[in-house]
Amino acid sequence: MPEDSAAIGPSYGFDTLQIHAGARPDPATGARQTPIYQSTAFVFRDADHAAALFNLQEVGYIYSRLTNPTVAVLQERIATLEGGVGAVCCSSGHAAQIMALFPLMAPGRNIIASTRLYGGTVTQFSQTIKRFGWSAKFVDFDDTDALKAAIDDDTRAIFCEGIANPGGYITDLRAAADIADAAGIPLIVDNTSATPYLCRPIEHGATLVVHSTTKYLTGNGTVTGGAIVDSGKFDWAASGKFPSLSEPEPAYHGLKFAETFGPLAFTFHSIAVGLRDLGMTMNPQGAHYTLMGMETLSLRMDKHVENAVKIAKWLENDDRITRVTYAGLESSPYYDRTKTVCPRGAGALFTFAVKGGYEACIKLIDSLEIFSHVANLGDTRSLIIHSASTTHRQLDENQQRAAGADPDVVRVSIGIEDPDDLIADLDQALSKATS
Ligand SMILES: *Cc1c(COP(=O)(O)O)cnc(C)c1O
Repeated sequence: MPEDSAAIGPSYGFDTLQIHAGARPDPATGARQTPIYQSTAFVFRDADHAAALFNLQEVGYIYSRLTNPTVAVLQERIATLEGGVGAVCCSSGHAAQIMALFPLMAPGRNIIASTRLYGGTVTQFSQTIKRFGWSAKFVDFDDTDALKAAIDDDTRAIFCEGIANPGGYITDLRAAADIADAAGIPLIVDNTSATPYLCRPIEHGATLVVHSTTKYLTGNGTVTGGAIVDSGKFDWAASGKFPSLSEPEPAYHGLKFAETFGPLAFTFHSIAVGLRDLGMTMNPQGAHYTLMGMETLSLRMDKHVENAVKIAKWLENDDRITRVTYAGLESSPYYDRTKTVCPRGAGALFTFAVKGGYEACIKLIDSLEIFSHVANLGDTRSLIIHSASTTHRQLDENQQRAAGADPDVVRVSIGIEDPDDLIADLDQALSKATS
């Protein structure tokens, strides 16, 4: 393939795309690795070029709050791996969630969200979005009748995680997508815990996919970031429910995004209005770290899953443990669902309950040597946290239980170290915690 050819297209295998998608040798220097374009602004060829860019008649670089060449490579890579038509990166996973909802929502509108979500997302949806006049109704997605019944005329999206953090829960994405389709609203899937290597929500009917790139996509615990991937499949004009996308958008001198950009309407709106006015931008240095991490995504995810299965099985057979909730175990009620939703494995996040409850959990965490006690997941390093006293602390006890964060439970994010070392570490720490 000639060096100056266009970026590698989506017909290649995952392992090829995770390294090449979106990237080209730098046209100015031939640099093989994607340069960090650490520049705030980009020079216009002339006044006509500048006008065309501002009118969105030509795609190019203006100012790094909106677009940046390093970030653009990452956007194209994530979109390709997810099977979407476009993606927009932003400053964190939580920023991605707000950016995903922003074009869809207005005061008085609501979303239906799964009860099984990252703790910070529950707080964002149950508290913070109220300040915008938006609201969320939380539903158990296994109860499809309740999910259907929760949708009303003001509902503008359904939101869930495929592999849900932290309780070992797998969402029946196809069932949720069918309900969203019937209601004429988009399904948004947070694919952070699975990554596109384990699960591709668009193939199950998702309209939008959001990511905290902070986690497995970067994979090394260096930077926060987020992304929104657009499937390009939703007809924003069909129902009249999404005027920002289908009607003249007053925030962009009356442009009709759906009419002008077709399947890329959401992506263009997210850049031209979302990033422009909300300013939740990813910086090029951050994009660089995430691009580096993504080159080894499949290798890491296979090892994460292999280690998680081995350690979950060991814990399940240990009499100091009362239960292990990992969908990769045959004992899990969600084991069968993994075969359709995430056939390459159920991820590497799970919880287990320790005999001795809250006190034993705290002692276990303080006695571990390899596992780090941090509020993070998806690192190469193994991590552990007591969700009830940390990440899920803002939730009441019912919300904690619904999210799988009971007081006697710890959450682990299994890394890619030697699994026998991790088991030995858990063994010695459990002895101290339960003696
Ligand atoms: C971490 C996380 C988020 C939030 O992402 P940030 O990058 O921390 O803002 C959202 N969803 C899931 C599943 C996460 O793990």
